[in-house]
Amino acid sequence: MITRAAVTRAAGVAPVIETLELATPRDDEVIVRLVATGICHTDLFAPSICPLPAVFGHEGAGVVERVGARVGRVRPGDRVVMTFGSCGRCSQCAGNAPAYCESGHALQFGGARADGSTTLSCSGEPVHGSFFQQSSFATFALGTERNVVPLPPDMPLELAAPLGCGVQTGAGTVLRSLRAQSGASIAVFGAGTVGLSAIMAARHARLSTIIAVDIDPVRLELARELGATHALDARDGDVAARIRAIVHSGVMYSIETSAAVQALNDAIACLAHRGECALVTVPALGAPVPISLLPLLTGGRRLVAVLEGDSVPDEFIPQLAAMHLAGELPIERLTAAYDFADIGRALADAEAGRAVKPVLRF
Ligand SMILES: [Zn+2]
Ligand SMILES: [Zn+2]
Repeated sequence: MITRAAVTRAAGVAPVIETLELATPRDDEVIVRLVATGICHTDLFAPSICPLPAVFGHEGAGVVERVGARVGRVRPGDRVVMTFGSCGRCSQCAGNAPAYCESGHALQFGGARADGSTTLSCSGEPVHGSFFQQSSFATFALGTERNVVPLPPDMPLELAAPLGCGVQTGAGTVLRSLRAQSGASIAVFGAGTVGLSAIMAARHARLSTIIAVDIDPVRLELARELGATHALDARDGDVAARIRAIVHSGVMYSIETSAAVQALNDAIACLAHRGECALVTVPALGAPVPISLLPLLTGGRRLVAVLEGDSVPDEFIPQLAAMHLAGELPIERLTAAYDFADIGRALADAEAGRAVKPVLRF
């Protein structure tokens, strides 16, 4: 089968749309005709950590085109969102925690199926696909039965796309990882898709105090409109003290989405005793950074790392779609549409922060 895909051949060089050959689906695989796909920050740094040439994209939404012989959950014609891959056999998958699949890193970033075979080629030359078991910067993408989720009929595909990663990460961190309680307080560092989705989820869960922290006044205003009760510009300094001026004993929850070292320290320092900080990213791709752990010890505070908002996509993505359809998750406030042909501009706008959530349309 032929697919038109955005191929990245070198880190730092914009992808070029090329005509590739896509593998025939195996028994448990699914081919999706993309209608839309979001651009997430992971797509921006992936070329520096993944084998190249490769096709990225991991928030695909579209219509099932073909299915393998043993696929039962979806049929051709079904509208689906594509999400992260998981093996279905390890102890984490068996424990209903697919976001922590023991093969997760290889399945998202390895550029191949679980057995190492590649699914894309260009005149016989292998091209790495299977990014998050989808590589959705393409007109057709090959996924597995485990990482396609059927959508309710009235859910627009353009808005469903970011449910596959960014929105489920932010909302899931509040609703599933932290299990934030109504009436509690939260500080969210970084007002990108993940942070803003966390804020929308915090409003949905009726938290009383929702503090957004960012360095972009436009994003801070958007955070207010989406549910933040307070918005702090980190450039004004002393963020933890300013949070304590709002909630004197500190906030019960914080979420760090910005990858800034100062934000990480502030996200710990602003917590109440026994408060919990969720990390959804780390500074400098995991390089050592100075953080003060004493506040954790002195107040019984907790620091926890979260992947994909602890999502079980089959359960959580339909819940998020229902929230959107009930007006509780206005994803359309985050998205900006681009034609697939403009992927270079969309990636540049994501990198520069000009768009919160670019969504490519096919
Ligand atoms: Zn697994
Ligand atoms: Zn992502």
